[in-house]
Amino acid sequence: MTDRRSLDVIVIGAGVSGLIAARSLARAGLSVRCFDARERVGGRLHSIEARRNGIDLGATWFWPNEVLVESVARDLGLAIFPQATEGDALLEPYMSGPQRVEGNPIDVPASRFTWGAQSLANRLADELPIGVLSLGNPVKKVRVGDGGVEVEAASGVAYAGQVIVAIPPSLAAESISFWPALPDALADICTRTLVWMGNTVKAVATYDEPFWRKDGLAGSAFSYRGPFREIHDHSGPDGSPAGLFGFADAGRFVGQEIEQIGETFVAELVRLFGHNASDPKGLHVADWSRERATTPKSPSAKASTDTYGHPGFQVPFLDRLHWASSETAPAFAGHIEGAIEGGMRATRNVERAVKGPTTPTCP
Ligand SMILES: Cc1cc2nc3c(=O)[nH]c(=O)nc-3n(C[C@H](O)[C@H](O)[C@H](O)COP(=O)(O)OP(=O)(O)OC[C@H]3O[C@@H](n4cnc5c(N)ncnc54)[C@H](O)[C@@H]3O)c2cc1C
Repeated sequence: MTDRRSLDVIVIGAGVSGLIAARSLARAGLSVRCFDARERVGGRLHSIEARRNGIDLGATWFWPNEVLVESVARDLGLAIFPQATEGDALLEPYMSGPQRVEGNPIDVPASRFTWGAQSLANRLADELPIGVLSLGNPVKKVRVGDGGVEVEAASGVAYAGQVIVAIPPSLAAESISFWPALPDALADICTRTLVWMGNTVKAVATYDEPFWRKDGLAGSAFSYRGPFREIHDHSGPDGSPAGLFGFADAGRFVGQEIEQIGETFVAELVRLFGHNASDPKGLHVADWSRERATTPKSPSAKASTDTYGHPGFQVPFLDRLHWASSETAPAFAGHIEGAIEGGMRATRNVERAVKGPTTPTCP
């Protein structure tokens, strides 16, 4: 390939991992373009009205030992608040009605983003120089050569010295054509790397008030009957907007309309929390297994978390292709924390590649 690079770096994916990398590299003075298949940033950070009250259809929490999330949130001036945990939980056995469990063994201390988790991505994107982001522009091909990389997106071909793949590795293996082809061992690792929460349905119901709190309930429940296994309080910091959310395995809803899944969720909430749950003010459902910019169309039956943070993701391919995304992180893989680590690692690797090897100096 001749040297036709016009950019220093191309970042594929404007989830939190790609945005962290794009922001750092742009701040370091490199020319960057960041492509995303969707018309919005954030990927698995997806909040309704992310700049106002934050109803999360993707990630919700970060936990006390996740120092990178906390420091990025502080740096971006994002308001955070503790997950409501006070009150009793509910446990629903398979064959009988819900039972009250004293205290709340379901929720652990965690923090939430007041304006929704997507506000993290939105703020990172706000800090990018104009022209860096290219949304609604899926990347289809990546060619790595001696002179640089050639990235073919829906809008056309772009050239750079380095490329960061900040999308889940199994999705990259399925949806991007690499030239030269990824070595078999690396392609296999990618394919076997499960997309975290990629087979999950998340539903959120909002109400005028958190009525369950009046009964001394935390809003948390674990149901063996399901289909929503876990339920949590999803109210704002002062209880407003009031909300409950649930997680279910997407396999329970194959072929169903989203509206139908919502009705099933409300029926389960009524079973657990009573008639007050029957008429939500708002009902939002995300089936992440249907999102082609998150979950492969044909995920491998062997996909698991075993390859999370694999050494093959820590080093560049052909000195020009760098892996990011949460699943590539050696610690906290699958979490926002892992995604930030992945973006930071890719940034360091790109900077090293651009600057070349540093000569050790005598003290
Ligand atoms: C329902 C749910 C609940 C979760 N709860 C939590 C939680 O409470 N706490 C927590 O820490 N984590 C949670 N997670 C996980 C967390 O959301 C992810 O770890 C994190 O957001 C991953 O960020 P990422 O940038 O690595 O990947 P992604 O967010 O997946 O970003 C990848 C980006 O690449 C884009 N893309 C894909 N293909 C292409 C292509 N070909 N060309 C260009 N762009 C492309 C996508 O549109 C997307 O924007 C949850 C996830 C889900 C789905």
